[in-house]
Amino acid sequence: LSQLFRPLDLLGMVYRTIRQGVIDMGAMFDLIDTPAEVVDAPGALSLVVRGGHVRFEQVVFGYEPERPILKGLTLDVPAGTTCAVVGPSGAGKSTLARLLYRFYEVESGAITIDGQPIATVTQDSLRGAIGIVPQDTVLFNDTIGYNIGYGREGADQADIARAARGAAIAGFIERQPQGYATRVGERGLKLSGGEKQRVAIARTLLKNPPILILDEATSALDSRTESDILATLQAIERGRTTLVIAHRLSTIVHADQIVVLDGGRVVERGTHGALLAHGGLYAEMWARQAAEVEQADEEEALPA
Ligand code: ATP
Repeated sequence: LSQLFRPLDLLGMVYRTIRQGVIDMGAMFDLIDTPAEVVDAPGALSLVVRGGHVRFEQVVFGYEPERPILKGLTLDVPAGTTCAVVGPSGAGKSTLARLLYRFYEVESGAITIDGQPIATVTQDSLRGAIGIVPQDTVLFNDTIGYNIGYGREGADQADIARAARGAAIAGFIERQPQGYATRVGERGLKLSGGEKQRVAIARTLLKNPPILILDEATSALDSRTESDILATLQAIERGRTTLVIAHRLSTIVHADQIVVLDGGRVVERGTHGALLAHGGLYAEMWARQAAEVEQADEEEALPA
C-alpha cells in the first residue's frame, strides 16, 4: 500500500512547493530530492529586512551526516553588496544558496539576515525577501505575460510590461504577433536559454526582493547574449544584497567580494584584482579559464 501512496505523497509535495512559489528553482534545488520540509519554529516571527546584511557564521552542513560539505564556513555580505562564490565543482556553492533559502537546516553555526537567524523566522517572510534567478527557468505552459506576472501576485499589465523592459525582453515580446498573450512552454513558442533567463529576471524585478541569488548558467550562452544578460543582471543587483553562484569567472570580475570555497571552507576572499595578485587558487582558476577561452577562440577561427 505504501508503494501506492508514494507517488501521491510526491505529488502533494510538488503541489505544496509550487504553492510556496518556488517552482522556478526546480533545476537549482532539485525539488524531487528535497527531503522532509523544514518547518517554522514555534512562535516564529516575520523577518524584518533593514538593509539585507547576510552572514554565514561558522556554518557546518552535510546532506549526509558522515559527509560534511561545509566545515565551519563564515561569509559576510554587507547590505547592498555583491558577493560571488567560486570554487571547484562540488565545493558547495549551490549548497550555500539552498541553505540561505532554508531548504535545509544547518548542523551548527547560523545564517543571519540583518542579525536575525533565519532558523527563527517564518519561511514565508524569508522566501519573500529572496529572489532567485536560476540556471534554468521553468516556464508554465501559459502566456509569456503570465510567466512574468507570476513573480508577484496581483501584478497588472503595466507592472508586467515594466518588468519586461527592465529585463530587456519587452522588445522581443512586442515583436510577437500576440505580444504578451503569446503562449510559451512545451506547447508554445520555444524560448532560448537567454530569453528564459530574461523571463526569470523580469519575474524577480516584479518581486523586487532586497536579497538576490543568481545561479549562473553553466552552459555558455553566445558571447553577445552573455554580455547583454550580464549588463541586465548588474542593473538589477544595484541596491540589493546579491550572492552570485559563479561558474565562469569572467562574469564576476565586478563583484565587491569574491570568495573561493574549497574543502568546505572559504580559502580565499577579496576583489578580483586582489585575488589575482595573491596568486592562489583563484589566480590558478583564472589562468585555466583564460587558456580554455583562448583555445576555443582558436578552434573557432580555424577554417572548416
Ligand atoms: P558545481 O560547480 O558542480 O555546480 P557546487 O559547488 O555548486 O558544484 P553543490 O551542488 O553545492 O556543489 O554540491 C556540493 C556537494 O554536495 C557535492 O559533492 C554534491 O554531490 C553533494 N550534494 C548536492 N546535493 C545533494 C543532495 N541532495 N544529496 C546528497 N548530496 C548532495
